[in-house]
Amino acid sequence: MEKLNIIYGALYIRVSTHGKQEELSPDAQKRLLLKYAKENGIIVLDQHIYEEKGISGRKADRRPQFQEMISAAKSNPSPFQVILVWKYSRFARNQEESIVYKSLLRKKCNVDVISVSEPLVDGPFGSLIERIIEWMDEYYSIRLSGEVFRGMSEKALKGGYQARPPLGYRIEHKGCPPVVVPEEAEIVKYIFDRYVNEHSGIFDIARSVNALGAKTSHGKNFERRSIEYILKNPTYCGMIRWNMVDNTTRETKDKSEWILAEGTHPAIISKELFQAAQERFEKEYIPAKRRPSSTCKHWLSGLVKCPACGRTMVVSVTHTKTGHSYPYFVCYGYSKGKCMAKAAVSARKVEPYVLDGIKAATEGELSFTIKEPEPIKNSPELEILEEQISKIDIKEKRIKDAYMNGIDTMEEYKENKAILAQERESLENKLLLFKKKPVTKEEVAPKMQQRIRNVYDIITNDEFSIAQKNDAVKSIVEKIVFNKETDTAEIHYYYL
Ligand SMILES: [Zn+2]
Repeated sequence: MEKLNIIYGALYIRVSTHGKQEELSPDAQKRLLLKYAKENGIIVLDQHIYEEKGISGRKADRRPQFQEMISAAKSNPSPFQVILVWKYSRFARNQEESIVYKSLLRKKCNVDVISVSEPLVDGPFGSLIERIIEWMDEYYSIRLSGEVFRGMSEKALKGGYQARPPLGYRIEHKGCPPVVVPEEAEIVKYIFDRYVNEHSGIFDIARSVNALGAKTSHGKNFERRSIEYILKNPTYCGMIRWNMVDNTTRETKDKSEWILAEGTHPAIISKELFQAAQERFEKEYIPAKRRPSSTCKHWLSGLVKCPACGRTMVVSVTHTKTGHSYPYFVCYGYSKGKCMAKAAVSARKVEPYVLDGIKAATEGELSFTIKEPEPIKNSPELEILEEQISKIDIKEKRIKDAYMNGIDTMEEYKENKAILAQERESLENKLLLFKKKPVTKEEVAPKMQQRIRNVYDIITNDEFSIAQKNDAVKSIVEKIVFNKETDTAEIHYYYL
């Protein structure tokens, strides 16, 4: 935007309530200010002349015109760049007020306050006092953020318990936190234990739980989805999650807007166990509920490689006269005349090798490669978190200074310290989710095996589409090389 050299000004006119002072009438003040504006090329629009009418009593104390002027200055962009006053004592009633408003106007609105009859800005200590005020601002904002945090938690506790409690809990008294139903809690514990400690697949768990005769909170048999729902529900480790769904659109909000808080209900499992389950979820392929239709022709599409040239073997389909269709894999290089091996193999021949191979890998020894995880991209959330944590360092120093200098009592210091510790913990927990550690094969071998089990579950289940099965295999398999001569299929697994 081009910057025009026009300055707009506002006038603030007030008659002092202290009779002793040398006084000018409002009209005289206005004449002086307009004269100054004209001489200095400042344009003053009628709507930006603010004059306090009442000169005594409570109304004058509240200064409605002053408040109106400040709120006008705060609009973006500010309709004027300077405020003209006859004397600084007309702008504010004391030095503190003067400094607070002036620094607010300058920093937030880019508006200067000019006294047409006084050359100096509040005397020699003006800027020093401004700095002190800034310091105070930051200091008080610590308390403010504590209040905000408490308010949010209270809202969470009120809001969080209105919903029907999940399996394992029931509401005994309306409006009170839910209580544990012991026999249901056993099922919940069993599900987490199987998933985290025994590395079982979700289908497997559902089958076992159903075999035990357990039912969901809706009285139904467990399916993959109901097990997932339990494994992802932080209620079980004593937390409350809210702000997940937009109340008007019913859409799930972005994860960054969810709020997790400590609940007041008893936990059924430990936070560590819950966290371990979330970690497994993050790394493992979970079929999405709905998927756009895909052009994927076979659940091994893109994975079978030519044993001669290493190119991908693409899926072709032959249709017979009797109406049957036979998919087969053929070297992409061969079809383009670049590979002479004439490698082609029917899908029916490959499938059992792959299924058997994957099944064997769920049980026996296993070789796989570890892929380096991609470094986390410049995530805005990560940056915000790191910045917030560094601010807590500063705040901690500030409250200590305040205590050491006798500004705060021991009690106040302790209270502030607790607020900051709580904030720090919550921020650092969030930060953990962004940090990935390097891993060794020994460490991840059990996890790799559980992933393979999970994929085996999916590819042997007709509930899933070809594309879902294909995605599942791709989440653990780099390539498959089928060799006709040796009659073997090599499956190359990877761990990311
Ligand atoms: Zn080839």
